[in-house]
Amino acid sequence: MTATDVALTEEQRLFQGAIRTLCEREVAPRVAAAEAAEVFPRELFAIFGEAGFLCPTFPEDYGGAGADTVSFCLMAEELGRVASGIAGSLVAHSSIGTSAVLAYGTEEQRRRLLPDAVKGRSIFCFAVTEPNVGSDLAAMQTRAVRDGAAYVLDGAKSFITNGGLCTHALVAARTSEKGLSLFVVPRASEGFEVGPKVEKLGNRRSDCVSLRFDGCRVPEENRIGPEGEGFAMLVRALNGGRMVVGARALGVASAAFEASLAYARERRQFGRPIGDFEAIQMKLAQMATRLRAARLLTYDAARVKDAGEDAAMPAAMAKLFSTETAKWVCDEALQIHGAYGYTREFPVERYWRDARLTTIIEGTSEIQQLVIARRLL
Ligand SMILES: Cc1cc2nc3c(=O)[nH]c(=O)nc-3n(C[C@H](O)[C@H](O)[C@H](O)COP(=O)(O)OP(=O)(O)OC[C@H]3O[C@@H](n4cnc5c(N)ncnc54)[C@H](O)[C@@H]3O)c2cc1C
Repeated sequence: MTATDVALTEEQRLFQGAIRTLCEREVAPRVAAAEAAEVFPRELFAIFGEAGFLCPTFPEDYGGAGADTVSFCLMAEELGRVASGIAGSLVAHSSIGTSAVLAYGTEEQRRRLLPDAVKGRSIFCFAVTEPNVGSDLAAMQTRAVRDGAAYVLDGAKSFITNGGLCTHALVAARTSEKGLSLFVVPRASEGFEVGPKVEKLGNRRSDCVSLRFDGCRVPEENRIGPEGEGFAMLVRALNGGRMVVGARALGVASAAFEASLAYARERRQFGRPIGDFEAIQMKLAQMATRLRAARLLTYDAARVKDAGEDAAMPAAMAKLFSTETAKWVCDEALQIHGAYGYTREFPVERYWRDARLTTIIEGTSEIQQLVIARRLL
């Protein structure tokens, strides 16, 4: 166990070892080329699906591994350690898009959609954010109007991870003045348009685009859950799963911390390793302490969820603390590397850019504090 590890069961430890090996074998060799080309290596979906690491928490009935949330966090963390952008795509597929089908879909929908998603034969994105709608989901403008046994979707979605790669999108749209509904929209549907790639600061190996639905017909059998209850389903899905974003941030921060430890031993100034200087030692001690605290919060939130309890507040705390910690740790890592940290010769500039995203997605840090405060009050 390292200074920042938390206790795991034997089964979780085996899962961690297996995902770490897979990341080293299949992800690490693809990182540099994917970063340069700014594309997600699509074949990883099939590789991860075949190895049992897509949608890992799904029941065996649908081809899943039946793993717990702690294991899902371990997967996000190990992927985040190697390549946060790649983590973003694989985790997005394994979370809201597919998990809403599992949680709220009919048995027919689950049997029709999930086995292919678990094996990586289909790719899901979830399309919630719009050009004018971010944190305030209730203000959504995309509309789905009933027309016989189908709905007609019109509207635009922004910043959609996997939007360019997907075979299916889970789309949230307004079906009445007050009600939102969720739909699985096949990519091949007429009126499903994929916009240009988003030019991002970091996470350049994730696929992120805008989408447009222009008179796009979706059969009624692709509506997930009751009409008009999409907002509650979305909030429950987001609230319950945020510790996974925290885990992904922890992975990035752990890589930055480990790079800093190695650099503090190697880099010599004033005739000795910079790790001999108290200023650097204090940074490393703070980084390790905060990382351990973040990890404890994250895995505790996952255990709360696995125990079947309401995980909304612990998940918000875990997401808030872990992502803010990752941002801080990566900044200190860059400082420890000095000028080299600011170059592409060392990976810390990439960690710094990648960690920055995590305080924004799936609810900003400000929104996490609102979630926590509302429950406290
Ligand atoms: C790389 C990337 C990938 C993404 N992937 C997806 C995806 O797959 N699917 C998807 O649907 N979306 C995705 N998003 C969008 C992401 O979920 C949103 O960016 C996020 O929800 C925040 O919305 P916003 O950016 O519009 O910020 P806004 O809501 O416009 O907020 C702007 C600022 O105001 C603050 N703020 C807003 N409301 C309040 C309030 N009530 N109190 C205090 N402060 C407030 C925010 O915290 C923030 O600092 C992605 C974004 C990025 C950058």
